[in-house]
Amino acid sequence: MSSSIVGSAAQDVSSDRVDRLIADEEQVFLRRQPRSAELIARAREHLAGGATSNWQIAQPQAVWLSHGHGSKVYDVDGTEYVDMHGGYGASIAGHAHPAIVDAVSQQIRRGTHFAQPTENAIWIAEELSRRFGLPLWRFANSGTEATMDAVHLARAVTGRDLIIKVEGCYHGHHDSVQVSVLPEADEVGPRAHPVGVPGNSGIPEAIRNLVVVVPFNDPEAVARALTEHRGQVAAMILEPVMMNAGIIPPADGYLAAIRDLLHQAGSLLIYDEVKTGFTTGPGGITASSGVVPDIVCLAKALGGGIAVAAIGGTTRVMSAIADGRYEQVGTFNGNPLAMAATRATLSEVLTDASYAHLNRLAGDLRERLSSVIAEHRVDWHVVAVGAKGCVTFRKEPVREYRDFLQIDDRLGHLHWLMQHNGGVFLPPWGKVEQWLLSVQHDTADVDRFVANFARLAAAVAS
Ligand code: PLP
Repeated sequence: MSSSIVGSAAQDVSSDRVDRLIADEEQVFLRRQPRSAELIARAREHLAGGATSNWQIAQPQAVWLSHGHGSKVYDVDGTEYVDMHGGYGASIAGHAHPAIVDAVSQQIRRGTHFAQPTENAIWIAEELSRRFGLPLWRFANSGTEATMDAVHLARAVTGRDLIIKVEGCYHGHHDSVQVSVLPEADEVGPRAHPVGVPGNSGIPEAIRNLVVVVPFNDPEAVARALTEHRGQVAAMILEPVMMNAGIIPPADGYLAAIRDLLHQAGSLLIYDEVKTGFTTGPGGITASSGVVPDIVCLAKALGGGIAVAAIGGTTRVMSAIADGRYEQVGTFNGNPLAMAATRATLSEVLTDASYAHLNRLAGDLRERLSSVIAEHRVDWHVVAVGAKGCVTFRKEPVREYRDFLQIDDRLGHLHWLMQHNGGVFLPPWGKVEQWLLSVQHDTADVDRFVANFARLAAAVAS
């Protein structure tokens, strides 16, 4: 699928006005959701923090949902939203897609868990090989498990301990990758040698010291890291298009350059395509870039809304699993329910016709948002890759995490509030996250998003 960055003309944004707009929109937001407030109060009694993941907690309050259908979700107060949150990038099928409903219903009647393989797993591995150009696959249950297996596997195959990680990439919540995920500007240290900032509490320093942090889009930084740690780097892991700091596409030639550097040093290249895997095109960035990594990690959209993950690799790398040098295990790995949903997703939902539909909608959305930006002369631009996209609230392109840090957080939050109050659900993390279109979205959904965005631009620019 196509990617693009569209620029805009200049306009100063009054700081006070943004604060005032946020305060007003938060009041509207709270007034619209009394039932969520009640559930949060009740949940706090026995659900730690009143939610089932810290990332479900939002400002000014978490939104509790009752159900979803097609391109829409409904909150517990009965309000309908166009779902552009997409369950943090998983819901490319939309909600209750008939093919997924059928596949899951049929499988539930035939048993959901045996801890033994079922035939669908072979079909899926064959299809993933065709889409991603990597011959051998295994399954897991979350993106975190996939990247954890990938890092373990790289260490097992190379006999080395260090990994190179890109500043601002998120790869899940296991120890090895919880470094420099969303560090503050005063923590990051010199660009030539970024500090490995803990991404959470509970990550031992000894583990952090096994991670060498580099900026995105800078092959020289990778060359330097490989020289400074000669013979010690097992692999470099990255999101080939960064999608946990807005959206940051790779510069031309970057992915091929780092692959060559890593291979010259005897190290492996791992793509974390947990977010990009199916949302940017049928074979993710692996297929669209033509730069095939040694290991690719998939999750989120793969299961059409059911928890599943996959890692694919070259014959050399995956032989470590095949011959037992690395034990890739898990009670629910390849469970029949997830496999049924995944097969339906790949065969009936993520078809060529669906990608043509997504491309048309995404192009329309991008162009219309860019027109709004031009009309109101605000210093923003649209970045869209496949069904994913975001508005970057600054004029200049973002090439790496340190550029992203300069973006005013408040504008992303205000955008989220205005979309929400206008009936569109975006992920509640302002400038960090993106929208996702699903195969069930249509032009009326895009119309609603554009209308809300026009209200934001007019309010900020007036
Ligand atoms: N990798 C990337 C790029 C992600 O964005 C995420 C989650 O947002 C993960 C890995 C972890 O996936 P999960 O939340 O399924 O463990």
